[in-house]
Amino acid sequence: MGFKTGIIGLPNVGKSTIFNALTKTAAAQTANFPFCTIDPNVGEVGVPDVRLASLSAIAKSDKVLPTKMTFVDIAGLVKGASKGEGLGNKFLGNIREVDAIVHVLRCFEDENISHVNNKVNPLYDAEIIETELLLADLESVEKRRVNAEKKLKSGDRDQADVARVLKIVEEKLNESVTARDINLSKADQEILYTFNLLTFKPVLYLCNVDEASAISGNSLSRNVEEMAFQRGSTSEVISAVIEEEISQLEEDDVKIFLEELGLKNTGLDRVIRKGYKMLDLITFFTVGPKETRAWTISSGTLAPAGAGKIHGDFEKGFIRAEAISYDDFVLSNGETGARDSGKLRVEGKAYEIKDGDILHFLFNK
Ligand code: GDP
Repeated sequence: MGFKTGIIGLPNVGKSTIFNALTKTAAAQTANFPFCTIDPNVGEVGVPDVRLASLSAIAKSDKVLPTKMTFVDIAGLVKGASKGEGLGNKFLGNIREVDAIVHVLRCFEDENISHVNNKVNPLYDAEIIETELLLADLESVEKRRVNAEKKLKSGDRDQADVARVLKIVEEKLNESVTARDINLSKADQEILYTFNLLTFKPVLYLCNVDEASAISGNSLSRNVEEMAFQRGSTSEVISAVIEEEISQLEEDDVKIFLEELGLKNTGLDRVIRKGYKMLDLITFFTVGPKETRAWTISSGTLAPAGAGKIHGDFEKGFIRAEAISYDDFVLSNGETGARDSGKLRVEGKAYEIKDGDILHFLFNK
């Protein structure tokens, strides 16, 4: 399991170009991962992770299995989508299913590519989309509140807190405050989470800039960066044209191409890194002669729950975990070396898994 990201934005901002480039690059970088296109707009890809190569080389693994993530190209949002314009409801339904949103904003000028509003202004574009998401949330919250209040009146006391939180959320949405920006107590925040609102999902604003601005962005992307910062969100600069070129290169040529341009890594790497950070995700590994495999978990996950990612029985019968940090594993040249030099730790049920841990779970069958 990885996470599911929905790519949204107005028409002609570069969503499909970015979707195609990122999924193709991921397929090339994790070559033995069966890349599947569930439908033309959904790409399930392996998450490239340089650590996999060194771990599998040390353990002489037959197979390397990266962790998976899913990109969904959600086309069809236009002004009025919340009222069913464009692909309206289908679009909004697709967004409901994702863990995070990548909101592509056009930050390049090109008179040959028309802009829906005839003017390149990413902040205005972002507002159009966010208004639609807000309106859709408002409609759903209003319906739920009426429903919850009805149940409460007929004696269902469980609905008291739900109805109260819905009322607060409805007021805030009416003031154009997105669900993720509403200050609530921890308990109320948990209730809000169950509503699965569109404006509650974390957003990465992806500024699609001209090629010359790929390294340091341009004035348009800087406006977006400032807006994202003020909202407690995050932004990234990408050039769809460059990413398209990268996606057509052999893996060895990618490094040379990036160096020539002065870029440190691919757009795919940057989007994944920001996505993991935004969702507070980390990776642990299981390593052996059969396979080296990466697993994605939320930061703070305890060892038994991490084991449960692999198999339910591992969690139920959890005894302990043997853990080696990535650096120790590499420096000790594998598990035996790590064990001999005292770098293998034995951890119990209360152990919080760390990013890069190589874990071996012991459990009762
Ligand atoms: P979508 O409607 O948001 O999915 O946009 P597309 O990815 O289909 O792109 C719309 C048009 O803009 C296509 O002709 C792309 O080739 C072009 N395009 C996308 N990104 C860029 C870019 O960074 N620079 C320029 N000049 N054209 C781009």
